[in-house]
Amino acid sequence: MLSAEELVKRYGPRRALDGFDLTVAPGEIVGLIGHNGAGKTTFVEIVTGLVRPDAGQVRIGSYDALRAGRAARRLLGVAPQEPALYGGMTVRENLRLLAGLAGLRGRGRDAEIARVLDELRLAAAADRPVGVLSGGQRRRVQAATAMVGSPPLLLLDEPTAGADPETRSALLAAVKARAEAGAAVVYTTHYLPELVDLDATLALARAGRVIARGTQDELTRHLPGELRLTFSDPAEPELRLPTTDPGADLAALLGSGRTPVSVDIRRPGLDDLYHSLEAAATDERTEPRDVAA
Ligand code: ATP
Repeated sequence: MLSAEELVKRYGPRRALDGFDLTVAPGEIVGLIGHNGAGKTTFVEIVTGLVRPDAGQVRIGSYDALRAGRAARRLLGVAPQEPALYGGMTVRENLRLLAGLAGLRGRGRDAEIARVLDELRLAAAADRPVGVLSGGQRRRVQAATAMVGSPPLLLLDEPTAGADPETRSALLAAVKARAEAGAAVVYTTHYLPELVDLDATLALARAGRVIARGTQDELTRHLPGELRLTFSDPAEPELRLPTTDPGADLAALLGSGRTPVSVDIRRPGLDDLYHSLEAAATDERTEPRDVAA
């Protein structure tokens, strides 16, 4: 549904994107993660048509999004990082505007808006001006504007930043439902546990490129987990061992004559993945490269 190839974006001598590739299939949620400044928002802005790349290609559905931008953007729902809503208009009016742009009219439009309001638990706030809503409510309205009209591609840039648990779970449930209905979703976040909840595949961005891409299992299974053992010996009450083969390491330990009081096996998670990729790239720069203009 979305395919970006070899995107380059320079800001003066700085490369915000430096050969950025990402493909997203219908029904797939891609968690786009990476440090501040890795290029995630620049990528979203290019797909949205707000920023033009210096090189590379973007396809949305069957459209070349850099040439047929208007047609391609009809397939796209976006929740930008900085809320972009009309504060003097009500939630419903904001959604009507977006639904109109998506080509919805009349009763079909109103039914779609009611459905999205309900999905994001915004029905009670529907007729209040957006400007008087809480930050968490505004985030949900922003997500609602992306989802109205059920576009087949959703770009959600940190949609849960600063959200309370209720807002977060409403948003995550809505995103999951959209993907189950066939939408392709790009979801940027700094909250890695959300990506476990969403069962997202992962794309890790660093210095303007995607340096790791795959399912959570593919990317984490080669990483060491941890064996945690406690002992009755007060001199060494606990032992933590990194391990890729907990069964063999535990057997070796038991064979050495030490008997633990308790054994816990911690499987590698997304935090471990993130840290391992960071560690593997310590000799590279974390910020985008500056190049000769
Ligand atoms: P964050 O996690 O903080 O949202 P990000 O991964 O979304 O970060 P971008 O916002 O895409 O990162 O920024 C990538 C790089 O491009 C940064 O070094 C940033 O300073 C630079 N950059 C982005 N937009 C501009 C701009 N309009 N002018 C100059 N530099 C920019």
